Amino acid sequence: MRLAHRAALVKAMPTGELNPVAESMFGAAIRRISRVSVVSEHGGQLPVVEAIAQPHSGPVPFSVEFFPPRTEADEARLWHAVRVFERMNPAFVSLTYGAGGSTRDRTVRIAGELAEATTLTTVAHLTAVDHSVDELRGLIGSYADRGITNLLALRGDPPGSPMGEWVAHPDGVEYASELVELIGSLGDFHTGVASFPEGHHRAPNLAADTGNLVRKLRAGAEYSVTQIFFDVEHYLRLRDRVVAADPEQGVKPIIPGLMPITSLQSVRRMMELSGSALPDKVADRLAAAAGTGPEEDRAAVRAVGIDLATEMSERLIAEGAPCLHFCTLNFARATSEVLDRIGVDTRGALVPA
Ligand SMILES: Cc1cc2nc3c(=O)[nH]c(=O)nc-3n(C[C@H](O)[C@H](O)[C@H](O)COP(=O)(O)OP(=O)(O)OC[C@H]3O[C@@H](n4cnc5c(N)ncnc54)[C@H](O)[C@@H]3O)c2cc1C
Repeated sequence: MRLAHRAALVKAMPTGELNPVAESMFGAAIRRISRVSVVSEHGGQLPVVEAIAQPHSGPVPFSVEFFPPRTEADEARLWHAVRVFERMNPAFVSLTYGAGGSTRDRTVRIAGELAEATTLTTVAHLTAVDHSVDELRGLIGSYADRGITNLLALRGDPPGSPMGEWVAHPDGVEYASELVELIGSLGDFHTGVASFPEGHHRAPNLAADTGNLVRKLRAGAEYSVTQIFFDVEHYLRLRDRVVAADPEQGVKPIIPGLMPITSLQSVRRMMELSGSALPDKVADRLAAAAGTGPEEDRAAVRAVGIDLATEMSERLIAEGAPCLHFCTLNFARATSEVLDRIGVDTRGALVPA
């Protein structure tokens, strides 16, 4: 669809206001220090694949992932992290799409604020779960309305439990590849998808999982971002599998997802929810740091977590990863420390969080 058509489409979609609380808390400050966002020749934000090819301030481009905060205090923390990272020139930032209604509204609002009030290329996650195609069209239009053309197309997990039974919305889509197609049919969007170095927990085997990633790329996805992993070999094997399955799609960037571990208990829970486990070597190092007391030694675990993320980043850079994507949980400091250690110009951004 050409731009004129998209303009028409966008006009037909709901427009959003800046949330009054955020406006009063952050609006003036945001506007005071904002510059014009990096724009593409089409007048929108840079597509992710172009953004990661721009000059960057370290050995590799990096990007950061946030989630929509629930409270005003959490929102203040998010904006603190946004401003810290903004000084380090990330290739892009992304915002996850939550499971419930109000979280979903917040994703749309905050993604819009990121795109409008910062210099950051913003990727909005969008999940198909529990949405009819009509609702998805409306959401995609809401993003376009806010100048967001980079979307990460996901199926999402069943509400309540990621391991629960997947039931498609009766008027929705079954798989992320269909969402990629839907987005592509609605305008000049730039779509990414999820990839899984260890295979998605519902895929019967790695070949089927690779086939699905290739299907999503053929449907129009321009890149993928991986699930968080802790063994670089899994990432490298995924890359090899995609190239072998379809050399044409294999040239599309596979952006590795990283997370500096700051709590052993939390990362174990996170891995459980995603249907995977920590590699033994990593678990052993973290367990040794955690100690045998009733509470884990958080400072020691955090130090090992930063070491691990730094070591992984260095290996990924050596292996030619196109960008490093950090899941921040809306905290700036741990990721900033890793970035500093791999040689990203943190330009005094390492202030207490
Ligand atoms: C980088 C990243 C970001 C994420 N962000 C979010 C987020 O913001 N919000 C959220 O709720 N979740 C998010 N998730 C989690 C994601 O929604 C889940 O992992 C979900 O279970 C899979 O989504 P998908 O898009 O990969 O699904 P799909 O690609 O649709 O795959 C789902 C399953 O179906 C199989 N499959 C796909 N197509 C076919 C077919 N044609 N025939 C047979 N089998 C098929 C696949 O092999 C896979 O097992 C994210 C995951 C990643 C890696």
